[in-house]
Amino acid sequence: MIRSLVRAGALLALAGSLAMPMAAQAQAYPTKPISLVVPFAAGGPTDVVARTLAAAMTRLLGQSVVVENTTGAGGTIAANRVAKAAPDGYTVLIHHNGMATAVGLYRKLAYNPQEDFEFVGQVADVPMTLLGRKTLPPNNLGELITYLRANRDKVTLANAGLGAVSHLCGMLFQKAIGVDLVTVPYKGTAPAMTDLLGGQVDVLCDQTTQTLPQIAAGTVKLYGVTAPSRIASLPNAPTLAESGLKDFQVVVWHGVYLPKGTPRPVIDRLNGALQAALKDPEVRRKLTELGAEIVPTEKQTPEALRGWLKAEIDRWTPIIRAAGAYAD
Ligand code: ASP
Repeated sequence: MIRSLVRAGALLALAGSLAMPMAAQAQAYPTKPISLVVPFAAGGPTDVVARTLAAAMTRLLGQSVVVENTTGAGGTIAANRVAKAAPDGYTVLIHHNGMATAVGLYRKLAYNPQEDFEFVGQVADVPMTLLGRKTLPPNNLGELITYLRANRDKVTLANAGLGAVSHLCGMLFQKAIGVDLVTVPYKGTAPAMTDLLGGQVDVLCDQTTQTLPQIAAGTVKLYGVTAPSRIASLPNAPTLAESGLKDFQVVVWHGVYLPKGTPRPVIDRLNGALQAALKDPEVRRKLTELGAEIVPTEKQTPEALRGWLKAEIDRWTPIIRAAGAYAD
């Protein structure tokens, strides 16, 4: 009895001595470079948002925020990597709607998006654009639908992997027009866009954060935007809904996450830097120019992201399961 009391006392003392430096470390955070994990290829839409944020957060935190692209399986490899990383604030995830849609798409998900993370805050909302290769014959959405119905076995639809928003947009589009196309998955929109420009694939639905420069350069055909109303950066482009695909809407949202168990002072410090970065005039200019809308301050919080993720999981899981569109 006495021996076990002595052992318990020793354990408590040990825990105390470990807890002190950890708390002190959390207060001093960050003391070394931080990895910002992006689930898709470099040069793509998520990567653009991440690199814009990383540059501002590097200045604000006084430590380098280094973007790392961990690609594959529609973003789930990156999310799993961060879920299993040390909860010390040095491995951070930025992800989009895929954080919610993976729950429906993957029956064997190696992590739980709601349980295995700490939430930092939401970032920006980005509309998508439905594009064709420059030489694709149809010139508007009506013509595109007719063309796809007639050429369903030949036309290829690119996406950034099963669980990417391009996959989600493509899935909803095929369902809306009642056509099953041949889909070609990539590890991000950057390589998918390279092949669209090269004419190796025919159609791609993806975020304005990467597609606007190509649309402006006339290197792709634009069939419409997925936002609920026309967007300022493409005032002449009709929404898919106004062109006849009633209720067609996909808006891409972004969140920043940490591994579960990250100390509160670290979460708060990162959240402070995120909020300050989103007020930075250069960040605002760059994101706005690319069609992104920075979310209001009340959404840039851990609580708002947690609630939003839950709402998105509740919204998409039944839709994906009803479509039987599993990725595994
Ligand atoms: N836009 C991509 C997606 O469809 C991913 C990327 O950012 O490359 O999810």
